[in-house]
Amino acid sequence: MPTSAHVGGEVVRSEDPSSEPQRTVPRRVAVIGGGISGLAAAKDLLASGAAVTLFDADARLGGQLHAVEVAGHQVDVGAESMFTAAPGPLALVEELGLGDRVVGANAGTTWIWSDRGLRRLPDGFTPAGPTRLWPMLSARVLSPRGMVRAAGEALVPTTDATQDVAVGDFLQRRFGREVVDGLVDPLLGGLHAGDVRRLSLRSATPQLAALAARRRSLLLRRRPRAGAGPVFVTLIGGMHTLVSRLAEHLERDGADLQVGTGIERLERDSGRTRLHSDAGPAGSFDAVVLAVPAAVAARLTGAASPLAAEVLRQLRAASVAVAALAYPRSAATTSTLATGTGVLVPSHRGRLLKAATHLSTKWAHHAEGDHVYVRASAGRADDTRAWELDDDTLVDRLHADLAEATGLDVEPSAARVHRWPATMPQLEVGHAGRLATAERALAQDLPNVALAGAPYHGPGIAACLRSAAAAAAAVVPTTQER
Ligand SMILES: Cc1cc2nc3c(=O)[nH]c(=O)nc-3n(C[C@H](O)[C@H](O)[C@H](O)COP(=O)(O)OP(=O)(O)OC[C@H]3O[C@@H](n4cnc5c(N)ncnc54)[C@H](O)[C@@H]3O)c2cc1C
Repeated sequence: MPTSAHVGGEVVRSEDPSSEPQRTVPRRVAVIGGGISGLAAAKDLLASGAAVTLFDADARLGGQLHAVEVAGHQVDVGAESMFTAAPGPLALVEELGLGDRVVGANAGTTWIWSDRGLRRLPDGFTPAGPTRLWPMLSARVLSPRGMVRAAGEALVPTTDATQDVAVGDFLQRRFGREVVDGLVDPLLGGLHAGDVRRLSLRSATPQLAALAARRRSLLLRRRPRAGAGPVFVTLIGGMHTLVSRLAEHLERDGADLQVGTGIERLERDSGRTRLHSDAGPAGSFDAVVLAVPAAVAARLTGAASPLAAEVLRQLRAASVAVAALAYPRSAATTSTLATGTGVLVPSHRGRLLKAATHLSTKWAHHAEGDHVYVRASAGRADDTRAWELDDDTLVDRLHADLAEATGLDVEPSAARVHRWPATMPQLEVGHAGRLATAERALAQDLPNVALAGAPYHGPGIAACLRSAAAAAAAVVPTTQER
């Protein structure tokens, strides 16, 4: 029987079972997209012995990991923190030698700008709903009727969870409308810039879906996260430090990083995949990791896999705008803003402001100097008002909402706006099925082309690292045989 071995390269078979493989030619793999997903996939591919070329259309790497300078201070306008309950982000940070730059988020109040004014986000309230009853009831967000309804959760019959449903509908059935509109919407809906009545229970909140499958009361089953240490950390110098250090490692290990080269089309050619960039042919590869927005992936695969492209085109993404605001330090002492790490705004309030993070309360390294720093954001799926405003007007409007909510009585002394068009993936009901269809079509039409990143496996650095590892392993297995 022939044997084979694989160390990230083409396998050379031997007819003699006792002999070692004679020769291994590295697989040439293209990674398209240099956000955290593409960069992490490239790192894993290099580790498995592949020869890697990474393309990014933008002049800079990092995608949604990006900082701007405001009042002489670097402020992240994309991802600003990492969730430590998942092991991936901190493991990567350590591997890249950035452990000494990790700083934990200060504990602090998250305010909800409710119909009744600013209220504290109840202890134990997570993006996937409440884990504790009493803090939710005592938060003064719910009406007496809403409290009675929420308190009865344990008595609500469970339902068949085999069908995907909207996470908002699921939680409304268990806790009532007020919990969803007043708490789940600003927290989970805010994180995804989405509509909780469209986001998928299975894909947007897999941990909640797992609980639902056990068909018990959520409050009786769930335990708030115990344990030491902050749940969120960031990097001194900004999250883009992760990008520059990753890029350095990739280059050191031999990756070819082609920044400013947008790929336009994929084509199947004699068992390989040929890439075409905006400037012409961009090479032929044994395998490809597609770590680009779904609309881009649809465009790239359109000619070779019309079905995959059609499904990928259905994966929606919301546009958001972030304003990095610097206020004179005196503001820190005169407003409710100073007493919390941020403000979340329920969508039914109709405000432009979706959320604001008070960086100088949340992170010790943003707490020094003459200013305090705030990140204010606008934009949700189907709320494109921010895109109709120029930057100055957007800043004025976001500041006005923030001032009304918190009593802030000074104007920002500096502001920078960054816009993220069609960036926040909407993992809507049925997402897992759509993704499976697209992946099946790709496997048939473009074998060895894998999807990685937030549009497919969910937003957040931890999810992106998992997705990147899976895509890299799919196109270049590190174990025996393909
Ligand atoms: C405002 C905001 C705040 C966030 N906050 C957090 C947070 O605090 N914590 C957290 O964990 N997550 C956060 N996220 C989510 C997180 O940043 C993303 O989920 C993650 O960075 C997505 O990485 P990605 O590599 O999948 O995609 P992207 O970062 O979008 O990368 C895609 C890359 O593809 C490139 N590209 C596009 N078209 C082409 C083409 N034709 N050819 C070649 N390249 C192309 C783009 O230039 C880009 O670099 C936030 C996101 C935003 C927008």
